[in-house]
Amino acid sequence: MMKKALLIVDVQNDFCPGGALGVKEGDKVVPVINRMMGLFDLVISSQDWHPADSVHFEKWPVHCVAGTHGADFHPELNSEKIDLKLHKGTDNKDDGYSAFEATNVALADYLRNREISAVYVCGLTTDYCVKKTALDAVKEGFHTYVITDAIAAVNAQPGDDKKALQEMYASGCILVGSGEIQ
Ligand SMILES: [Zn+2]
Repeated sequence: MMKKALLIVDVQNDFCPGGALGVKEGDKVVPVINRMMGLFDLVISSQDWHPADSVHFEKWPVHCVAGTHGADFHPELNSEKIDLKLHKGTDNKDDGYSAFEATNVALADYLRNREISAVYVCGLTTDYCVKKTALDAVKEGFHTYVITDAIAAVNAQPGDDKKALQEMYASGCILVGSGEIQ
């Protein structure tokens, strides 16, 4: 049996409606993710966790500053079921788009050490951190699934979400619905 991990990307207040970089329907992914957690051998989350003065904020509104409410998980995310919590973007750099860039754990090694061969990516946002995480998972050699009803996009340009899905698919990601996962 292939062991699988759920990788919950950045389901944080600042990416949900009302947050500093809130995306439309960002909060709608939460119940879908909560329902799926029990299906996986390992549940892992990533959080943007920036220093307040990061150069990252030359490109983006200030968001997910380490230790602030905006950096917390959405309050309804069932965070007790998360086995490993990753922090990324923790340095004064424009980095941390991918969960594989986490600075507290070397994620690829962590997964390999636990014989995880399939990674299921969900969360926020489709066109940035979900995409970067999924593309890195493919590069690291994992069977990579993107859960299409458990993601939401920034859509700075209309259609960015579809472009991101196409790019992930073309790179070898498998697109699945949450209901198809066993
Ligand atoms: Zn960020």
